[in-house]
Amino acid sequence: MSREWSSVGEVAVGESPLAGIAGFPYSADHCLRGLESQVADLVHTGRLFYQRGWSVGTSSNYSVIIDRNPLELLVTASGMHKGRLNADDFVRINDQGRPILPGQPKSSAETMLHVVAAQKMLDVRCVLHTHSIWATILGDRFFDQGHVPINGFEMLKGLAGITTHDVNYQLKIFENTQDIAALAHDVGTWLDEELRVSGPGPHGYLIRKHGLYTWGKDVAEAQRHIEIFEFLLECVGRQLLMA
Ligand SMILES: [Zn+2]
Repeated sequence: MSREWSSVGEVAVGESPLAGIAGFPYSADHCLRGLESQVADLVHTGRLFYQRGWSVGTSSNYSVIIDRNPLELLVTASGMHKGRLNADDFVRINDQGRPILPGQPKSSAETMLHVVAAQKMLDVRCVLHTHSIWATILGDRFFDQGHVPINGFEMLKGLAGITTHDVNYQLKIFENTQDIAALAHDVGTWLDEELRVSGPGPHGYLIRKHGLYTWGKDVAEAQRHIEIFEFLLECVGRQLLMA
């Protein structure tokens, strides 16, 4: 069977996105029943990002906002290999980052970074986080100036709301920490400031020697933002090597 790229990953032509994912179909009382398409989108995202080297091993985490009143997110479970996610490797969590239903696996350690993005940006429906090489090292290389400068690249137009290459884009960098509550607070404060400024964005941020967070109005847009940022970061990194 021929294969093509769907909006969220590689799916064979004519094949259900749920096909080839262990754990489907869910039983009648499964805590993720009704969320099959969101789960499948994130499984395919993991396979794609693993293949591209952006989510190797158990690194990275992904979420979809499934309700806002009250806030509920579908998040990858802690410690799962992102190239081999199955239908049970997800957790439904609340605005405290805690599982909503009993018997679910532990959610990602960085769950509150997903929650704060969902809380601050009401049009966001998906948050994606990757650990690529370029995001990891450029977040360190430019940490002292607070952002990675990304200037004049045509591919900037792949970020929602940017319509010209002629922009001096600044990709914010936060210090890495294991105190995720403190980092989530700092990210929330930064998002408040960014959202007060008119114009496109914010689209994402780096964590020093760690990785990239971005988001979108759906899984496809968040996935595109990962692709665009990864391309742009590699451009900046390779230009430094050539200098
Ligand atoms: Zn991480």
